[in-house]
Formats: sequence, structure tokens, C-alpha cells
Amino acid sequence: MSTAPVNEVPDSLKPPAFVAEPAASASVSIPVRVFGFRMPWARLSTARRTLLGWSVAFALLLALPLVDTNGGDLDSFANAGTYVLLALGLNVVVGFAGLLDLGYAAFFALGAYAYGLAASFQLKIPWSLFFVPFSWLGQVSQVKFGNIDVAQLHFSYWIMLPIAALLCATFGILFGAPTLRLRGDYLAIVTLGFGEIVPIVLRNSSAITNGAQGLPGVATPAIFGFSFGFDSRPFYYLILCLVALIVFISYRLQFSRTGRAWLALREDELAAGPMGIDHVKYKLMAFAIGAGIGGLAGTFHVAKLTTATPDMFQFTVSTIILVMVVLGGMGSIPGVALGALLLTVFQGLVLGGLSQWLHGLGNLINVAPLKTIDLTQANQLIYGVVLVLMMLYRRQGLIPARRTVGALSIVEQTTQASRGGFKPTFLIAEADRTLKAGEPLLEVKGLVKRFGGLVAADNIDLVVYPGEVVSVIGPNGSGKTTLFNMLTGLVRADRGSAVYHGTEITRLPPHRIAALGITRTFQNLRLFNNLSVMENVLIGQHARLKTGVVASVLRTPAVQHEEAGAVAWARDVVGLFGNRLVPRLEHVVSSLSYANRRRVEISRALAGRPRLVLLDEPAAGMNPAETLELMDQIRSLKDLGVTVILIEHKLELVNTISDRVIVLDYGKKIAEGSPAAIQNDPLVIEAYLGKRRKHA
Ligand code: ADP
Ligand code: MG
Repeated sequence: MSTAPVNEVPDSLKPPAFVAEPAASASVSIPVRVFGFRMPWARLSTARRTLLGWSVAFALLLALPLVDTNGGDLDSFANAGTYVLLALGLNVVVGFAGLLDLGYAAFFALGAYAYGLAASFQLKIPWSLFFVPFSWLGQVSQVKFGNIDVAQLHFSYWIMLPIAALLCATFGILFGAPTLRLRGDYLAIVTLGFGEIVPIVLRNSSAITNGAQGLPGVATPAIFGFSFGFDSRPFYYLILCLVALIVFISYRLQFSRTGRAWLALREDELAAGPMGIDHVKYKLMAFAIGAGIGGLAGTFHVAKLTTATPDMFQFTVSTIILVMVVLGGMGSIPGVALGALLLTVFQGLVLGGLSQWLHGLGNLINVAPLKTIDLTQANQLIYGVVLVLMMLYRRQGLIPARRTVGALSIVEQTTQASRGGFKPTFLIAEADRTLKAGEPLLEVKGLVKRFGGLVAADNIDLVVYPGEVVSVIGPNGSGKTTLFNMLTGLVRADRGSAVYHGTEITRLPPHRIAALGITRTFQNLRLFNNLSVMENVLIGQHARLKTGVVASVLRTPAVQHEEAGAVAWARDVVGLFGNRLVPRLEHVVSSLSYANRRRVEISRALAGRPRLVLLDEPAAGMNPAETLELMDQIRSLKDLGVTVILIEHKLELVNTISDRVIVLDYGKKIAEGSPAAIQNDPLVIEAYLGKRRKHA
């Protein structure tokens, strides 16, 4: 068999005509083989199979009340549904965006009290003109209470559902805003506090909430004049609809620009900024959406129980929801739903049944403690054990959010990609007509950065013209990476300026700089390791795409068009590296070789259509042949409209591709010029080889 590249592309490697779910590798679907047999649905795409799985599940659940007419069963299912909803909501925060929320029950409580107060006779507000329009709409009545007129609120459930969700989302933003700016675990602590405070406030503001006794007589929903009352069937159908809605929204968000931004933040927040992702905005969005879903669950819960007490929303509820998410698989929609279902069923049926069985056993063998044991009280302990076991043995949960793709066969590895290679036919960045001839693209003046007593950048000047490849060289620790960090907003310069195309960038946050057209790679590879190559490269396009949250959920034709374009562009960019990455598009980055990871990082940077790309030691970890190949590719970027600043400390390499070289040593620029001039500069030789000893 010949290992020489062949030009025919096997079908398995050809890109699908249209990818509805660009990140299909991340989706979970029903298995195609059961006991070794290929199932009839094996030919469907992953997205279709996922849809099929959910449709069958919902159809069965819809039919359940026809078969099982026991109100108690349906009631248990409706309660389980509440937890499924809560777990799906927390999944957006914890699973998608990677924010640890330890007080999620607070939003559950807020939603419950929002509807509870608006649909019970708890609030006795003196009647005023303010209520007149609401009375016309039939949501408020004027009643006598003692000898004053008060407003009795009986807002419709269907009106309060979105209002409660919006209210909770607003609270989410209010509480998230001060803390989400910080990195690390501050959010966990603040949410923990928030989760503790809400029940306490509810208990102590008895004038409004009736304190520990809880809300009296909350109205149940009514539809077309038919009141739900205490019949569990309509509640069952209602929660099924709510769960279906949230499952739908979760999927739409997961496979969208928004969902990818969350994944990026979860994987590596620092790297997400220079890809154009505004971390505060996207974290707040996740937090708000999660809170809104918690609010929905709250309205349902209170409407079904017709009361709410502060005790129903204790810290333990937050932990239970978190355990459900962890058990099912963080970020996995079916996993989380299953986790919630399993734990509620476990608590209700298994623990209750087991207790009764033990009572029987106790009576039989006459052991007193067994006769009265109540295992349902032990659920906290059991949740704790579940959490520990999952962390030890199956961290990805019951249904992991993503599956790994197998290694490539020899044929796949040696197949030449059908397009691209080293002869691309497209431009990465169009030539900029607003830039006058001879005007620099980037002008850096007197940049200074001190880390304590250490001066990492000492008055650095640098001018880069469009179309150049400028290399920055210097021994380790000479401040090269610090220069890049200042130019991409990751490190704030103490002094000096950097003007890119007329905009001062030293004070801008990373995502704004990316949007202007500067992207970068990192010396120590900062890829989104648990995501596929395709997802990484799609995230690199964040600043160039426009779809927002609402559009992602609606998935309008414009959004579909943009997504298809993004996928096609990702293929084009990855094709710059010939067949190195094209067959591995759906592979998880952590499974790639070091050299391929470097290529993914460069592709991710180029996918954002930069005018200026900063490459920090892109050849580190590559063998000599791969390095030469890469240098060739970097040189070819010039023809694609990209200006390059390259950090590299191998002088021979730099000499072959640079138009200009600047040399740093101890944070100072010690030389600048053509590669040939630099090579013979005594200061450079000294910096690299050390001082020549004087002859004695
Ligand atoms: P290079 O990329 O040229 O090897 P760096 O820019 O990474 O050098 O580092 C320059 C100097 O600044 C080094 O002495 C390094 O230890 C120091 N430095 C870099 N980043 C930080 C930081 N965040 N905090 C403190 N010191 C830093
Ligand atoms: Mg460095």
C-alpha cells in the first residue's frame, strides 16, 4: 500500500452538504447499536436522532395519563417534572457556562412567591387608582376589608408565568453583576449567601409573605374558564409543556453562537476574551436565563401546592438540584433530565418502599430500630454519597455531554484534503481601503509594564505596516509575551500607547480588541480542550458573527445562513494546513498531537478574520519538518491579507520569513532591522550568546 497522498477524497471524509447542528459531535443521541445490532435509525443524522429520541419520550409521557389514571402517580410525575425543570435551568448556569451556583433555590423561591403573592389574598393593598386598569382586565378586584377598600390580586397564571421568569432573570442580573466581573469562585460564595438570605427574608417579612406559615390559598391556574383545581392531570400536562419548552430552548442555545461562547468561558475564560467573547455579558446571560427557568418552576410549584412556605426553598434544595445536574452529566440536556427524574423517583418510591420493607423485616425478626426506621430522611446522606461516587468514578455523568471520536485510520491520515492546502483561493481579511498608503497598521510608543520591581516591558516602540511579517525575538523572559498581552488587553500597560488603525487599544478589554481585528495565539496553548476542532474554530469567529440569544432560540433563516457560513469558513481556514486538520474536525482537541493543537490554535486565531495576528512561538513543540511547513504557511498569510507579528527565538527560522526583526532583552528593545542586519548585530549576539570574555 502506498502512503503517498492521494487526491481522491473518500466519502467518509467529505463534508456533509449542510450541517444543521454545527457542533453535532457535542450532541447526545440515542445509540445506533443495541446489543451489536444496527438499529433502523442509524442512518439518521445525530441531530435527527436526538429529535427522534425526545419526540418518542414526550409522546409516551403524553399518553401516560390514558394508561395510568392514578392521580397519585401523575402527581409524583408532576413533582418530578418540577425538578427536571429546575435541573435544566441550573444546567444552563453550571453545565453550559461553568458557573457554580450554590443558591439556585433562591430563584425557585422568588418565582413561587411572585405568583403566590399575585394570586392569593395575602397582600392587602389599599385600593387606589393604580389598580383600575388591572380591574378592567379582570386581574384585580376591589373588596372591603374591615372598613377600608383593598385590592384583591388574582392575576392569571398565564400572565404571571413570563412575569415571574423576567423578575427572576432581573434578580439574577442584579446579584450576578457585581460578582461575575471577578474570576474564580466568588460567585459560588455569593450565590450561597443569596440562597440562605432569600428564605430568611421570606420568613421575617411576615407582613408581606405571612412568614413561616406561608402563603394562604394561592389560586390554581385556569384555562378557558376551567380551573385546574386539585386534579393532578392538568398539572401533569402543564409541566410537560414547560419541560418541553425548556428542553427546546436549551438545545437551541447549546448549538448557537451563545452556547459556544458559554462553552469557551467554561473551558478557558482567559482565552475567550481575545476570541471576542465579552465574559461579563455572557456569564450574566447564563445566570439570568437559569434564574428565569428557576422562576418558571417556582410558579408551577406554588400553583400546584396552592401554598408556599420559606422552608420549601432551603439550601438543601439547591444542593439536590446540583446533584441532579452532576449525576446526569453537566451540560448534557437528556442527562440532566434523567438525573432529576432518577433522584426524585428514587426519593419517592425507592426510599419509601425500602423503609416499609425494613419495617416489615423489623417486625418479623423483632428488632425495634428497624420497625420505625424512616429512610426518606436519609436522602441527604444518599445525595452526598451519589455526588462523591460520581466525582470518583464517572465525572462526566450518566449521559456525558460529549463523546470522543476514534482515531483516524492510515487512509484517512494520508488523504490529501480536497481544497485549500497551501494554495488557498480566498482572503482572510479584505485589503483596508481606509488605510492610507505608507500608514502603519499598528504603532506602539513607549509601552511600559512593571511586575513589582521587575520591568517586563521597558519603553517599547514598534511600528508594523500592512502586509509585513515582523518577528519579535529575544531570550526567555525578555518580555515578548508581555508585549502581546498588552496588545490584546490581557495585561494593562503602565504607560505608553498602542494605536491600531487609528484606535488606542491599550485600555480596551480583550473582546473589543478582537472585534477590531487583532487575534492571537498563546505560547502555552490555550485551546478549549474538551471541545472539537470545529467548535474551537467556530468560537474563533465569535466577533465576526452576530446572532444573539433570542435569534439563537428562534433560529431564523438568517441565523441558519450565518451558521452554515461559519461552518464553511471554519473548513476553509482549517484547510490552510492541508490534510492535517480537515479529517479531524470533529475530534476533541485534547486527543490531538501537540503540533496539531498548535495548528488548531492558529486556525482559531485566523478564523476571526484578523488584519493583524500575533503568533506566540507557534512552532514550539514541532519537529524540524513541521516547523518548516508552518513557516511556509505563515509566510503565505501575507497573501491572504493578514499582517503577522511572530514571536520565535530560533534565529534561523525568523531569518527566512521576516521582513523585519525586533530584538528584546530584559524588556528593552536592543535592536531592530532586517534579518541580515540583526544577525550581525553585536548586541544581539551578546544577548543570545553571552558576553565575550575579554582576553587576559
Ligand atoms: P518572554 O515571553 O520573552 O519569555 P515574558 O513576557 O513571558 O517573557 O516575561 C517577561 C518577564 O515578566 C519575566 O521575567 C516574567 O517572569 C515576568 N512576568 C510575565 N508575566 C508576569 C506576571 N503576570 N506577573 C509577574 N511577572 C510576570
Ligand atoms: Mg513568552
